[in-house]
Parts: sequence; structure tokens; C-alpha cells
Amino acid sequence: MAKMFYDKDCDQNLLKGKTVSIIGYGSQGHAHALNLKDSGVNVVVGLRGSSENCEKAKKAGLTVMEVSDAVAAGDLVMLLVPDELAADVYKASVAPNLKSDAMLLFAHGFNIHYNQIVPAPNCDVAMVAPKGPGHTVRSQYLEGRGVPSLFAVYQNHSGMARELAMAYAAGIGAGRAGIMETTFKEETETDLFGEQAVLCGGVTELMKAGFDTLVEAGYSPEMAYFECVHEMKLIVDLINSGGFAMMRYSISDTAEFGDYCTGKRIVTQETRKEMKKVLHEIQDGTFASKWISENRAAGRAHFLATRRMEAEHPVEKVGAQLRKMMSWLKK
Ligand code: NDP
Ligand code: MG
Ligand code: MG
Repeated sequence: MAKMFYDKDCDQNLLKGKTVSIIGYGSQGHAHALNLKDSGVNVVVGLRGSSENCEKAKKAGLTVMEVSDAVAAGDLVMLLVPDELAADVYKASVAPNLKSDAMLLFAHGFNIHYNQIVPAPNCDVAMVAPKGPGHTVRSQYLEGRGVPSLFAVYQNHSGMARELAMAYAAGIGAGRAGIMETTFKEETETDLFGEQAVLCGGVTELMKAGFDTLVEAGYSPEMAYFECVHEMKLIVDLINSGGFAMMRYSISDTAEFGDYCTGKRIVTQETRKEMKKVLHEIQDGTFASKWISENRAAGRAHFLATRRMEAEHPVEKVGAQLRKMMSWLKK
């Protein structure tokens, strides 16, 4: 089991007298900036002048600067812009302005691990990655709790990078829940694998395959949606709070027996073999290079066309209709 660290293992005093610059004020940016500020850290937010988030951040009591000025002011600079834009932001505004002994921080390892950002050797480079969306990082902090987070050191120029990264993690509240040490390689590769094979790619294709099977056999799309898509949340919520055992305790014995008989016929040895291939293509950079060239040369032609085609699948049409009947869902 990986070792967990808590507030008592972190020295938040290491951030005293330092300025932490948060670049970006989106999902993660607003949570990191506000939590650190409430933890007594001197925070500056870096945004484009045109950003609609400038007002929001100022209203929350934060100091807002142009990205390049915020970088120049930072002893620690956390880059919280979308990953596919981070390399451009780094080249244009971070690299030319970063203090020589500063610490550069990320919340995801992609750009460092796949060499899209190559930091100067005279800075520290580390990661602090909460395992939850920004609004949870903020709301948990306000309730006196935290979201478990990962941290990793890529470059330890000062000799203090690990301690500083842990202090930052504690500053955003993660030390209340648990902080786990990893590497940029492990975080990046497991994150990509999870979202592709299981969470996003795996789940949506499984749902669509089930939906299509029922509809092609003549059952109504509404029934197919309820059974193969809608009820997923129920099951996942049970697993999330109590593991497979709690889910199986809650479902009927018939459902549990069917689970044991059929699961392995759906996720077969073939599927597991393909998962290994997917992992290999993440490890050897095949996926990263596809995604990077999609963003650069291809102008996202394939990505955007696929998004449009996916939105046209019947499961999306019937789902939109049925969700209108569910008054508890946020519009
Ligand atoms: P968001 O898409 O929410 O961040 C958007 C912010 O980036 C906005 O403030 C936006 O500015 C700013 N931005 C975009 N382009 C530029 C630019 N060219 N120059 C300056 N600022 C720019 O990102 P997330 O918070 O989702 O992700 C940030 C990092 O956190 C990523 O590395 C991600 O992998 C990681 N992460 C995200 C999690 C999540 O739950 N979302 C969970 C864990 C890690 P503007 O205000 O002008 O629009
Ligand atoms: Mg990811
Ligand atoms: Mg059922």
C-alpha cells in the first residue's frame, strides 16, 4: 500500500513569506487560490486581461494580475489552465518570467511527462493533484475537510521541492484527507488509462452496446435507456460508498447471480488483452502524440467531428427526452 501523509507531516510554514501564483481561475484554479488564501498564504491569480474570471477573483478578495506579471511575482507558480493549452501558455508567459529559483507546479503530469513543457534546470518542478473536481476541493475545505491528493517531484533543484509540494498540498486542504506520493509518470499514465479504458471510453461504449442490443432486438429506446444508462449512477454510487460488496448487498440476489454469470462474458480475455495494448500505447507515447498532433496540425478536425457524431446517437436523443421528466436533475 502507498504511504499517506497528513497535515502533521507537512510544514505549512515553508510557504510563509512566499508568493504563490495561480495561473488560471477555472475548476482547479479558483479552489487552489481561495483555499491557499484562507490558509494564510499570499496568493496572486494570473489571468488574461480579457478574462471574465478577473472580476470573480477580485470579488473573492484575490489579487489579480496579467499572467506574465503573476509568474514574475511567484515563488511558487501553479499552472492551472487546460492541459492542451499549457505548453503555449508556458512558452509565451511562464518561461520568460519565471524567477530563477522558483517552483513550477502542475495538477496533472501530461505536459512534463510527454516533454511538451521542458522546464529550466534551475527551478523546482512538482505536482499537486487533487483527486476530485475543483468545486469539491473548495466546498470540502470550507467544511473543514479536504480532498485526497497526489503529489510528485520531477525536479528538485532547491533540495526542498518535496517539502514545498507537501506544504502546498496541505494549504489547499488535502492534508486533512490524505496526501499520497507518486511520480509524474505514474500519475499521467494511470490517469490516461483510467479515463480511456474504464471511466469514459469503457463506460460509454458499454452503455451504448447494451442500449443498441436492446433496441435492435425490438425493445423500446426508453426502456433501453433506463436499464443500460440511467441506472448506472445508482450502482456506481453504491460501489463508490461501500465497494462491490455494498452494491451486491443492495441489489437482488437475481441481479447478483447474473452479475457473476455474465460479467466475464462481456469483459473477456480479449478485452483484457486490448486493455494491455491501450496501456502500452499510453506508455510509449502513441496516444500522447496522436492527441498533440490533433490539437496542433489537425485543428481538432477528427475530435470535433467525433463529438458531433456521438451527440447524434439515439441514446443521447432518448436520454434528453427522459431527463426532462426528472425534476431533480439540474438543467
Ligand atoms: P479549466 O478549463 O477549468 O481552466 C480554465 C482556466 O484557464 C480559465 O481561468 C482560463 O482563463 C484559463 N486559460 C485558458 N487558456 C488560457 C491562456 N491561453 N492563458 C491564460 N489562461 C488561460 O481547467 P481545470 O481547472 O479543469 O484544469 C486545470 C489543471 O488541473 C489541468 O492540468 C487538469 O488536468 C488539472 N486537474 C483538473 C481536475 C478537474 O476536476 N477539472 C482534477 C484534477 C486535476 P479565462 O478565465 O480567460 O477563461
Ligand atoms: Mg485526465
Ligand atoms: Mg433492472
